[in-house]
Amino acid sequence: MSSISKHHRELNESGEGKCSVPMWSGGCPNGFCDNAAYGEPEFSQRAINRVTGQTYRLDGRYDGYVPGLACHAHGGPRVRTFMDGSAWCAVLPDFINLQESNAGFGETREAAIAQLGYQP
Ligand SMILES: [Zn+2]
Repeated sequence: MSSISKHHRELNESGEGKCSVPMWSGGCPNGFCDNAAYGEPEFSQRAINRVTGQTYRLDGRYDGYVPGLACHAHGGPRVRTFMDGSAWCAVLPDFINLQESNAGFGETREAAIAQLGYQP
């Protein structure tokens, strides 16, 4: 059983890590998703399936096992956040640089995301 690495658990100073969702090949573990990840899976309200008794995410996003960070396809955040000097900065995946791209700033991560105007 391969274990997850630091970059699957922690974001770097640019707010980036790698998706920790295990991949399978022919029934055997075969590494990790490793797509760019900007945080852990986002919270979703859950509902219960009365037939199976299992709960599921109401937002319909990926609901499998995620040991650490997750890419957007695996339920992780779409917005990347990082510290720019003493302020939080929030950008979208098509970010090039602060001159050309849309960005939000704030004293907190949440404030920066709100200023970016992004709605999940
Ligand atoms: Zn992934």
